[in-house]
Amino acid sequence: MNVILMGAPGAGKGTHAADLSKKYGIPHISTGDILREEVKKGTELGKLAKSYMDAGKLLPDDVIIKIIQKRLEEPDCKRGYIFDGFPRTINQAKMLDEISNIEAAIYLKCDDDILIKRLSGRRMTKDGRIYNIYFDPPPEGVEVYQRDDDNEETIKERLKVFYDTFGPLIDFYKQKGVLYEIRGDEQREVVFSNIVNILDRLNK
Ligand code: AMP
Repeated sequence: MNVILMGAPGAGKGTHAADLSKKYGIPHISTGDILREEVKKGTELGKLAKSYMDAGKLLPDDVIIKIIQKRLEEPDCKRGYIFDGFPRTINQAKMLDEISNIEAAIYLKCDDDILIKRLSGRRMTKDGRIYNIYFDPPPEGVEVYQRDDDNEETIKERLKVFYDTFGPLIDFYKQKGVLYEIRGDEQREVVFSNIVNILDRLNK
């Protein structure tokens, strides 16, 4: 099962991709997570990535495409995968089309005021648990940190980049007949079960 979760930053792609990965036993591939790992390790790729990420801009397609080609060669991808944050440009989608058969591109639609609260309020623990100071505050004593790009200025730029690029991507998957559009701003359990309904119907 090869699936893409699409949507603006803060739409819940990462949260649902992680839950789907557990449910279906296939990897969750987040280009953002891969890049953040490289930044943490201080590699050349990480140094390059940080300059784009801190500015809320997209990395060049060729860099991202190389990362994905390498990742899809890993044995855990044999039974399928869930993409989160990839593809983000039409070139990335076309390249993916050459090496993968996407069965569902699920677009999680959200209003901007929710997206901004989710991003500006997002806090993480070192082991990856995500809280939100507005909706799901971390318990007292739990140490949390904020992503470098979850600040007001970068959030604005990330949303702008999303709205500038998502139209052709949506059209691309619509034309292929694999686009599914659902609300991403309903309760987490509701969104998850809507996604599962789509995927289970595909796999019947
Ligand atoms: P995310 O965690 O998906 O919000 O991504 C964080 C940042 O990583 C983005 O703002 C971009 O700078 C970079 N990034 C992640 N995925 C991609 C991609 N597919 N293409 C280009 N840049 C990306």
